[in-house]
Amino acid sequence: MGEKGAKFIFVTGGVLSSLGKGLASASVGALLESRGLTVTLQKLDPYINVDPGTMNPFQHGEVFVTDDGAETDLDLGHYERFTHAHLGHNNNFTTGKIYHQVITKERRGDYLGGTVQVIPHITDEIKNCIRLVSKGVDIVIVEIGGTIGDIESLPFLEAIRQFRADAGKENVLYIHLTLVPYIGTAGELKTKPTQHSVKELRSIGIQPDILLCRTDRYLSKEIKGKIALFCNVSTDAVITAKDVECIYEVPLVFHKEGLDNKIIELLNIWTRTPRLEEWETLCHDVCHPAYVVKIAIVGKYVDLTESYKSLNEALMHGGLPNKCRVNLTFIDSESITTDNCAQKLAGVDGVLVPGGFGSRGIEGKIIAARHARENKVPYFGICLGMQIAVVEFARNVAGMQGANSSEIDENTPFPVIYLMTEWYDEQAKTIQRRDERSAKGGTMRLGAYPCRLVPDSLAFAAYGKMEISERHRHRYEFNNQFRSRLEAAGLTISGISPKGDLVEIVELKDHPWYLGCQFHPEFKSRPMEPQPLFREFIKAALVYSGFRKAGATVEKTCQ
Ligand code: GLN
Repeated sequence: MGEKGAKFIFVTGGVLSSLGKGLASASVGALLESRGLTVTLQKLDPYINVDPGTMNPFQHGEVFVTDDGAETDLDLGHYERFTHAHLGHNNNFTTGKIYHQVITKERRGDYLGGTVQVIPHITDEIKNCIRLVSKGVDIVIVEIGGTIGDIESLPFLEAIRQFRADAGKENVLYIHLTLVPYIGTAGELKTKPTQHSVKELRSIGIQPDILLCRTDRYLSKEIKGKIALFCNVSTDAVITAKDVECIYEVPLVFHKEGLDNKIIELLNIWTRTPRLEEWETLCHDVCHPAYVVKIAIVGKYVDLTESYKSLNEALMHGGLPNKCRVNLTFIDSESITTDNCAQKLAGVDGVLVPGGFGSRGIEGKIIAARHARENKVPYFGICLGMQIAVVEFARNVAGMQGANSSEIDENTPFPVIYLMTEWYDEQAKTIQRRDERSAKGGTMRLGAYPCRLVPDSLAFAAYGKMEISERHRHRYEFNNQFRSRLEAAGLTISGISPKGDLVEIVELKDHPWYLGCQFHPEFKSRPMEPQPLFREFIKAALVYSGFRKAGATVEKTCQ
């Protein structure tokens, strides 16, 4: 259809947060793709941070990283896992980023002396940002963060309200996600919160076309009729968004409720009939594993599911080709000591140390890595987890007592992980320089970087090719000054940047599966295309477990 023909779906949320707006938007994308349409997705976040890069993951959840190095909201992870959309900097805008752009223009004198105001200048900027992603796709799905009624999301809502007049009625659709709670004492589903939320939305000029009603049971015709009457939509535009065991069921539930049919009817587009076989197979496979493994994630956590969303998903994906359910046990590394480690990791088939920042809990992670190395338990170190593996190996195998990352100990005699002062940056295509005094912001290696693999390695066996590209988000690097000494002691460097200066993967030879990577492979894992390192890690854990059979009851495997 191309630029001119792009149509826009705006997804808002009401009543309360955490109803799954991101998953709903991603599922709409999946359904439209299954009908042969090309889609992209965008998230507009009402907070003032320019991006979530500086936000505490415990407050905001995971920071998702795109190929082009944008640090984004975790919903972009859902969008990429559910669709084939290629996302980047333009797919996530915050109030902070919008105002920053407008203020930059104002300082430059672009407004020619005019008074710069929320309407029209901020709203125009928002509309421009929406149009930015519409090139070459049939449908743009835009999710508005926050809940209807919040003061801070008003400029975004005003912009999308105006958008329908600009783009034409048939080219714009509003979907509103609300809650229809079941009240046990009354034995009834309650529609009032939905009525109020839609009333609020209409008071700012947006009449939703479709309502997604989050609830724990299918809505009857009567309830749908009541909601339709009070909210001024047609009955077949009231869709049950029923709770599901596995998030990948959401597109199937929506389809069953007629959502994609209604969307194409309202947007007046002709498409092929949807092909959802691969989603059905996926859900079947998730629910019918033959085996089960238990993986310990050793990190520091408060809110586990939100902080490591992509990681949890990638582990689950890695289980699929192995017909294996992946049960996770989260172990706070601060609680691990040399004395209790074996007991804490008893019954575990694989140890994973994920990414992280700062020194809290570092020694516990090093102890866990040592335990995995010495007891031949499969080990997967991601970013900080790779750095931990290098430090542990340096200290306990290569005889470098007190080895550390300079992030943790500035005065270590063996800074095996350090701030590299000069390197060739494949994202920027220039030589980059920095030192310990450089600012924290903007000095991370972010986004996709190429990596060359060494044949006859675990990494090569997983990927089956020599050249790979994976996404990064870190500041510290392997210190090449210690490379030959570590290699002589038995550390294999199996992945390296094309210019040869950045060590990207390390592994051990006389161990069934011990690998650390400087990048974050979890960002590129898809349910239909599990990331190779996760697939192989789970396979090694399965072998370690002796192919433990899954029980008859299927526990919840994904969140
Ligand atoms: N803190 C480490 C660094 O900055 C690791 C970062 C991470 O795990 N994402 O290099």
